[in-house]
Amino acid sequence: MSQTDFSSLKLQPELLKNLSTLGYQQMTPIQQQSLPPILKGQDVIAQGQTGSGKTAAFGLGLLEKLNVKRFRIQSLVLCPTRELADQVAKEIRRLGRGIHNIKVLTLCGGSAFGPQVGSLEHGAHIIVGTPGRIEDHLGKGNLDLSNVNLLVLDEADRMLEMGFQAALDNIIERISPERQTLMFSATFAEQIKSVAKRIMKQPVMVQVESSHDNSTIQQHLFKANDNAHRLTVLRLLLQQYQPESAVVFCNTKIETQEVADELSRYGFSVMALHGDLEQRDRDQTLVRFVNKSISVLVATDVAARGLDIESLDAVINYQIARDLEVHVHRIGRTGRAGNKGLALTIITEKESFKLAKLEDFLEQRIDAEKLPPINLLDKPTYQPQMATLQIDGGKKQKLRPGDILGALTGQDGITGKQVGKIQLFPNKAYVAVNREVAQYALRKITEGQLKGRNFRARII
Ligand code: AMP
Repeated sequence: MSQTDFSSLKLQPELLKNLSTLGYQQMTPIQQQSLPPILKGQDVIAQGQTGSGKTAAFGLGLLEKLNVKRFRIQSLVLCPTRELADQVAKEIRRLGRGIHNIKVLTLCGGSAFGPQVGSLEHGAHIIVGTPGRIEDHLGKGNLDLSNVNLLVLDEADRMLEMGFQAALDNIIERISPERQTLMFSATFAEQIKSVAKRIMKQPVMVQVESSHDNSTIQQHLFKANDNAHRLTVLRLLLQQYQPESAVVFCNTKIETQEVADELSRYGFSVMALHGDLEQRDRDQTLVRFVNKSISVLVATDVAARGLDIESLDAVINYQIARDLEVHVHRIGRTGRAGNKGLALTIITEKESFKLAKLEDFLEQRIDAEKLPPINLLDKPTYQPQMATLQIDGGKKQKLRPGDILGALTGQDGITGKQVGKIQLFPNKAYVAVNREVAQYALRKITEGQLKGRNFRARII
């Protein structure tokens, strides 16, 4: 048994057995370094990004510590965004499925308040949520944190950046100082260190090398003449590389929307993702991007946090990020799990000083490359393979993925291969199908039945 096997840890047999059914054999570096102190009950501050396996690191810690028979809230996980909270809750449920009756509840903004109150009345062991909404529930007396013995701050740097400091302070005040505190952050900026000092007890620091080495992520640099030319360069790059899934990072919300609007005007399959979107639009955007019926997502750093996409083909920096660690983090979003990734950055002459700083930071030279041929702009824009059908029914109507797949692939239907991701929400379902058969698939849904009744649907 090697030191990097999960079985070298003191974990309950139920957890260990489940890990092997999940196919987790070896610990990732962040798990190797953080799990031993976490399981000893120590406070840990770890530098971990999406994709590092950080969720399982704290998830196993809190599951091991949990006393299921005691039906009280024993752990609280705070996340900056609803997407991240949903992913974390999902991963904790997966990790804990060997133990019976564990109740994990998410409490996030953007969802109705009332049903959350109802769920809280039924009780839970583990709460995962965003600081604003948790604070609201505390304020209304719906949430009792007096039994919490483990607090996790996930993506702490991002929560501070989003202005959650006051909410965090309010929440943490209500939790016993005897608790164990775990903090995960992509950067260890001063602000993070000072928060850690205030709320943690002699934390063990865990820092792991980024798993993205230069051999898998190629960085390419392109020069634009000026700001106005930047968009043209972006169009050229998209037409040249034709990534199936690309995120274009912008530094501001306004620019994010402008770039998305312009690309759309030129016929690209694109949507914007930033904090000003309604939650419903945000969900829909992510659904369509993840299921590959939108090829390009233009996003701010905050909005893109927590995006858990297995394989981003390309990350494009519309500019170098203001914070270089953020820049490196962006690039780390591509080329995950050994997939070859493409990181493209556009700069203008005026920004040469930023490039010099980035080169210093990365200790490597990055030379600008020749722009793709200009006649690519005259070619039709590339299009995604998939299209999304939205069905006006979801979990509440008891629809399941199998029902939708069955309706699509039934008699005279399309083939299973032509069906992509199926995602269910409380009152809606989304299914990706090959673009060429989208109209036909739509008819199969609207003219046929699901669970014995008709549902309206449309291509979005
Ligand atoms: P995270 O960084 O927590 O977002 O995790 C990234 C992905 O890696 C998730 O899909 C996990 O399910 C997966 N994962 C986490 N730990 C392991 C492990 N030790 N072995 C294999 N997969 C893992």
